Amino acid sequence: MSRKTIVAGNWKMNTTLEEAKALATSIVAAVKDVKDVEVVVCPPYINIAPVAEIVKGTNVKIGAQDLYFEEKGAYTSKVSADMLLSHGVEYVILGHSEPRQYFGETDATVNKKTVVALAKGLTPIVCVGETLEEREADKVKEVLSTQTKGAYAGVSADDAKKTVIAYEPVWAIGTGKTATPEMADDAHKIIRDILTDMYNTEVAESITIQYGGSMKPGNAKELLSQPNIDGGLIGGAALDAESFFGIVSAK
Ligand code: PEP
Repeated sequence: MSRKTIVAGNWKMNTTLEEAKALATSIVAAVKDVKDVEVVVCPPYINIAPVAEIVKGTNVKIGAQDLYFEEKGAYTSKVSADMLLSHGVEYVILGHSEPRQYFGETDATVNKKTVVALAKGLTPIVCVGETLEEREADKVKEVLSTQTKGAYAGVSADDAKKTVIAYEPVWAIGTGKTATPEMADDAHKIIRDILTDMYNTEVAESITIQYGGSMKPGNAKELLSQPNIDGGLIGGAALDAESFFGIVSAK
């Protein structure tokens, strides 16, 4: 089964207005002839509107780095799915390890956000991944199972097929340590087996699973050529148009 290859840049808490506009403009120019890879940029909320203007009518899609699961109301600091949609956002990163680590994100909140994103027509990029301690304690399967089952609780098979998963070993994020291609592919296969158990083979085989964790132009080709790795969620290397393009064109 052929899956969509998606390379998404997570800009995290980087870029002022001018930096965001410059980066988006350079990325649009760099990837303009790319056809077989879905290219997504995920700026900070405040820079979504200006970046959306720049990517309008191009092959670059917009993602957000999070959303809040309530519809609207007294939730100071939060941003809803409808607000994102009104700016042309198509993807939303959910359950990234940084909000899990620093901002109280849990499998239960990831689930609520996933359900809302799907109901509203946004494509969730659901992040899962183990810490170094969990890997060393041989708990990779257990962690991936808990996180995946938690995020997809109550999600139908049809809706699950509309999602993307990012396998991001926490120990490889922003550290320069990359999982070896085989190690990453094994983890992606574990996630597919979990999805087969939860749903069926068709669902498991149809979901794009990105790898994230210190992916760069130099290691992207090997990672992206693994059978179960269908793209990348890119942090640091997404802040430079040339590096980002280097990954997009490595497929
Ligand atoms: C990320 O945070 O999603 C990520 C993969 O970061 P980096 O590429 O910098 O490791």
